[in-house]
Amino acid sequence: MSTLAIKNATVVTATDTFKADLLIEGEKIQSIAECGDLKADKTIDADGCYVFPGGIDAHTHLDLPFMGTFSSDDFETGTLAALHGGTTSIIDFAFQTQGKSLQEGLRAWHEKARGRAAADYAFHMVVTDFNPGSREEIRGLVEKEGVTSFKTFMAYKGALMIDDRQMIGLMNEVKKWGGLVTVHAENGDLADSLIQANRQAGNTAPRFHALSRPEIVEAEATGRAIDIAYSGGHPLYVVHMTCEGALNRVRDALRRNQKVLVETCVQYLLLDDSVYDRPDFEGAKWVMSPPIRKKKDQEALWNGIDQGLVHVVATDHCPFCLSQKEAGRNDFSKIPNGAPGIENRMELMYSEGVVKGRISLNRFVELNCTAPAKIFGLSPDKGTIAVGSDADLVIFDPRVEHTLSAKTHHMRCDYSSYEGWKVQGRVRTVLLRGTVAIDQGRALVGKGFGRYLPRKPFSGAETI
Ligand SMILES: [Zn+2]
Repeated sequence: MSTLAIKNATVVTATDTFKADLLIEGEKIQSIAECGDLKADKTIDADGCYVFPGGIDAHTHLDLPFMGTFSSDDFETGTLAALHGGTTSIIDFAFQTQGKSLQEGLRAWHEKARGRAAADYAFHMVVTDFNPGSREEIRGLVEKEGVTSFKTFMAYKGALMIDDRQMIGLMNEVKKWGGLVTVHAENGDLADSLIQANRQAGNTAPRFHALSRPEIVEAEATGRAIDIAYSGGHPLYVVHMTCEGALNRVRDALRRNQKVLVETCVQYLLLDDSVYDRPDFEGAKWVMSPPIRKKKDQEALWNGIDQGLVHVVATDHCPFCLSQKEAGRNDFSKIPNGAPGIENRMELMYSEGVVKGRISLNRFVELNCTAPAKIFGLSPDKGTIAVGSDADLVIFDPRVEHTLSAKTHHMRCDYSSYEGWKVQGRVRTVLLRGTVAIDQGRALVGKGFGRYLPRKPFSGAETI
């Protein structure tokens, strides 16, 4: 097996920062040694750079059929963009179609990804129709397919939403086999009634999307999901939390010693709702659910990270081109929900988080790499730098400043959520399972290099 050495690295894990030489043999990290005269077939000098574990984006939607169209990145373009940004594994969502089986949904997503993905990938299973048939399928998904997390939508009525009774049934079944239930927490009925009221009043602009999904829509559903999980003694993972009100429901749950895991996304940490006031339908770029919140919510989320209430930072990458967003030019409720971000997460979190002193280097690694790996059963192969782990590594140059733009990004989307943002630090080289996947902005792997990652069950004892 050929060997590769990364020399003079400043290795960063969720707990430690230290200088070392790394020896990679095949796909794995073979040894971590003091800097010295390590010999290998090939050598990369990482002097002056950090070496992080490959990022894990626990929330992406590639090739997703949604609101009459498809998200504009497929598994090839989306995972290549992820690699460019230092994300080596993603967990995407396989959707059940209401009236059909979970297995059919999972098969459809395997077909989308197989032979196309350039980065490694896994699937959460979205349960949109929990019935005696789907109940029967849960065990097989956990034990045979390596799908150990299940997502429910409390919003998108008539399409994805399930009612509380179904959610209770799902939590009970999933618990039996060691899976984890995750929830999109927005009160679908409340959002729907506000959407209809705005449409009837002739309010058509993108900002009415945000005004139809105010903080209470999310806070109420978050609290309800948490209470339902509590009543059954279940752990719960809340996806894309955006606001102070929802975070306070988590605080309440912790006071009664409940386990609630929280994910937020980069956009909710960095953007505020003034994006919806931009002229000429530009606000449509940030139409997503939940919507971008207020400045006070950004602060609440950063504080939540600081206090250990928020465990994971993901992207909810679900891009649509401007021509697709046009579907809602005269009606905000028809704007496809979602935005690009898969490529920008690591660099933005470093620049806005670490450089600005909001999080430490180690916390940066924990939020973006280690915590998602541990929570979702990918550890210790993924999410850390350790002997025997996959050699998924990001050589990151903190000295380089650059500007984010749709002109230079690799996502198949004709706008950037962060157009013109100056970012300190840049992904220089990315390794996926010991192979150099990206070097200085050039992709050296392509379509089909990514591998499906069956995941381990949720232990319940995994503390982050
Ligand atoms: Zn999502």
